[in-house]
Amino acid sequence: MEEKKLEKLLLKKGECPFCMIANKKAPAYVIKETEKSIAFLDLRQINWGHVIIIPKRHVEKLTDLTEDEIQDLFLLVKEIDQKIRKANLDDFLKKEVRTGTLILIREDNERIIKHLAIHVIPRSTFDMVFIDWRPIYESMNPLDDAVLMKIKERLSVA
Ligand SMILES: [Zn+2]
Repeated sequence: MEEKKLEKLLLKKGECPFCMIANKKAPAYVIKETEKSIAFLDLRQINWGHVIIIPKRHVEKLTDLTEDEIQDLFLLVKEIDQKIRKANLDDFLKKEVRTGTLILIREDNERIIKHLAIHVIPRSTFDMVFIDWRPIYESMNPLDDAVLMKIKERLSVA
């Protein structure tokens, strides 16, 4: 099924699509699952082999997980990362060279699906994975020690 149609269908039902995948109420290309977590292909393959790993319980933030769930989830992330690095995807990558993986945890409010998700994205030369790593204040070059000290203090006491 076309990914847009599937997404619309799932969202129309008013249920969380990732919960539906975890509960086997919606189809997915499942790579592996454990008692508390499940890994499946993202239908929007940012690069070939892009996998989403989610906790089966609906949570929106990493801090909502129990320690057991975190352990289960991150062991599965590690396993999927190893699989992506080992898998034969050369025919998909054509002449590109693998450069590693990008692991992202999404819990921002910009998401359509609010369920916490960890993305493991294979990286290769010429892929279209771009993150703008520019410092937010271009003028902070060289780094402003006073600003960084203030941020460090606020994070430390939070
Ligand atoms: Zn959910």
